[in-house]
Amino acid sequence: MQRRAQRVTGLGTTVFAEMSALALRTGAVNLGQGFPDTDGPAEVVEAAVEALRTGHNQYAPGIGVPALRAAIAEHQRRHYGIDLDPDTEVLVTTGATEGIAAALLGLIDPGDEVVVLEPYYDSYVACVQMAGGVRRPVTLRAPDFRLDVDELRAAVSLRTRLLLVNSPHNPTGTVLRPAELGALAQVAVEHDLVVLTDEVYEHLTFDEHEHVPLSTYPGMAERTLTVSSAGKTFSFTGWKVGWVCGPAGLVSSVLTAKQFLTFTSGAPLQPAVAHALGLPSTVLDDLRESLEGKRNLLCDGLASIGFDVHVPEGTYFATTDVRPLGYADGTQFCRDLPTRAGVVAIPHQVFYDDVDAGRPLVRWAFCKRDDVLSDALDRLAKAFG
Ligand code: PMP
Ligand code: GLN
Repeated sequence: MQRRAQRVTGLGTTVFAEMSALALRTGAVNLGQGFPDTDGPAEVVEAAVEALRTGHNQYAPGIGVPALRAAIAEHQRRHYGIDLDPDTEVLVTTGATEGIAAALLGLIDPGDEVVVLEPYYDSYVACVQMAGGVRRPVTLRAPDFRLDVDELRAAVSLRTRLLLVNSPHNPTGTVLRPAELGALAQVAVEHDLVVLTDEVYEHLTFDEHEHVPLSTYPGMAERTLTVSSAGKTFSFTGWKVGWVCGPAGLVSSVLTAKQFLTFTSGAPLQPAVAHALGLPSTVLDDLRESLEGKRNLLCDGLASIGFDVHVPEGTYFATTDVRPLGYADGTQFCRDLPTRAGVVAIPHQVFYDDVDAGRPLVRWAFCKRDDVLSDALDRLAKAFG
């Protein structure tokens, strides 16, 4: 029997699952799905083991264990000067993914329009659709991938209910600048919109680029839900511990939906993430520095092979234009890549409504060991050099 509700029709299999399976099947180096191949700090793993051994094995409170909510509030205060009540303004979720899903289900009615930066992280499309919403993309265009404020204003209508932002931005690596964040804030305030901002790469920025939370802009604290995740910040993507912060009235709508998605999130991992958030900020600095080295290794290598490289300001990902290698289409390039070079990457096209804007672009994850990146570059040089 085959049946499918409209709310999931057309969503298919995520490109990340498809590409990781392809890498496994072909023995290719996987620079597709964004996950580090080195675990985060050992003492955080020990904290999780300790929690498993000391009875943190039954349902946690739906909103999250108190120690983690306090640690998230303290993190927001320490890094950004944001004051949050950990009992009403912080919600622990099963990864950022559940936070985004629960926020959209909790805030969007059928027919509501969601203005979203494109290329978009794939779960946004799925969750807006499952909530019955309508997406209105605003495209960050190559080669600079900056926000076009006129395009943003044109996308907003009387039916717009929510603005969905992501910075540092997957897949382009753009870190939104003060002028761009200011414009987003102005539009949100003018149109009285709720803003959902996905800041999972908040600590992964390079060079002089610095992440500033959108909620710190004038008029934004009262209307902004900020999503982040321990997966990205501490290299534990498999733990799926995320959070949503914002005004109590909005967080409670997210919690209402979350109650019936997962009820609560993994109990023993929560005290461990609380421990991680309390580590000195040198831990984050080291991670950022190491990742910046990997970014340089991959970007320099790809450029020397002949790719047109867009060096990212943040995130795990670099983007290339593949036209200098004789491909007009990034999807065709990514299909050929495992057999031609023994490497897997992700075509940008899957992240766009405006498919032409992403056609020649390919995303490469560099959150991998240096020897893995070098191996991938050797393979690419042999195939294309
Ligand atoms: N948002 C963005 C922009 C991402 O790249 C990812 C993926 N890693 C997520 C959300 C999901 O995060 P999590 O694994 O914590 O659910
Ligand atoms: N966020 C990661 C990426 O963009 C992967 C997450 C996933 O597999 N859903 O590659």
